[in-house]
Amino acid sequence: MRKFILLMFTVCLCMICTGCAAGNNGENYVEENNIKMGTICNIKIAADKDKSKEIFENLWSTLDDIEKTMSAKIEDSELSYVNNNAINEEVVISEELYYVIEKSLYYAELTEGAFDPAIGNIIDLWKIGTDEARVPEKEEIEKYLGEANYKNIVLNKDNNSIRFLNDKVKLDLGGIVKGYAADRIKEILINNYNISSGYISLGGNVMTIGKKTDGSMFKIGIQSPYNVNKLDRVVEVCDKTVVTSGDYERFFIENGIRYHHIIDPATGEPARSGVRSVTIITSDSIMADAISTACFVMGEDKAKNFIEKLNGKLEEKDYIESYTIKQ
Ligand code: ADP
Ligand code: MG
Repeated sequence: MRKFILLMFTVCLCMICTGCAAGNNGENYVEENNIKMGTICNIKIAADKDKSKEIFENLWSTLDDIEKTMSAKIEDSELSYVNNNAINEEVVISEELYYVIEKSLYYAELTEGAFDPAIGNIIDLWKIGTDEARVPEKEEIEKYLGEANYKNIVLNKDNNSIRFLNDKVKLDLGGIVKGYAADRIKEILINNYNISSGYISLGGNVMTIGKKTDGSMFKIGIQSPYNVNKLDRVVEVCDKTVVTSGDYERFFIENGIRYHHIIDPATGEPARSGVRSVTIITSDSIMADAISTACFVMGEDKAKNFIEKLNGKLEEKDYIESYTIKQ
């Protein structure tokens, strides 16, 4: 059932994009679908058909590499090595992992901990998104509250190393890694293959490149949390990312209560902030991913103030637009 919901969500987003991309010049586009990083991925680009095989092979293997580096669930990933060895000890890490962790700590600080990648042990207690999902005992959560905190992670740029200040911290980059991956894929498409039109959809993260080849904007559908077959709205974008965090993507229901996968680090429980989903539109997908998760935790009013304040500091090209769907 959960898998089905995730599938519908992704398919809906893609339907919209595909419908638009295959306009008058639709024959210029090549498209592939795949399951990577635990989600359905759909990439569509304006490129020669004979070159596309090589391009897609490169993109899919890049996503595999990112997962093998940054998944907290894969036992022999680089991130798991960090989680097992960085307690009170410096661990030297790859530049790529350092970059994503540094960004995740930056957004943790910026959102005053609403986004916190250090709560991996609390996320593990809930097992949401697996067949063993359950409601943990209060004492299990209390063991980590306050201690499983981004402030207890120290990075050292001099030797690219990381250290945890206690044994309660465990890194989980699930709230930011798809955003990073979308940025990385876009960069490869532009720099290595000169692609000037297309989109990348990694689950709830959509990134667009340029405009459609017929000169119009990409139309991206935002899923209604109330009906998986319906769109709440359609936004028109070019060279922007559209990222949604919602309570209908991964969840289970027990005694009539919905337990979803976005955890409020202050309580250690699924965030009850009165919203069903938050969509962020901006230029960087890594920023959009961290901020959509954080804004879900904050709730509508706090998130609105946060984004207004942040926009005051951003360049116009990065300016954030957001849509909240309330309970
Ligand atoms: P999705 O990955 O499904 O698109 P999000 O980007 O909102 O949705 O990320 C949710 C994932 O992020 C969770 O599955 C978990 O791994 C992690 N996570 C949950 N709560 C938080 C939080 N408050 N801060 C950082 N990461 C979180
Ligand atoms: Mg996110």
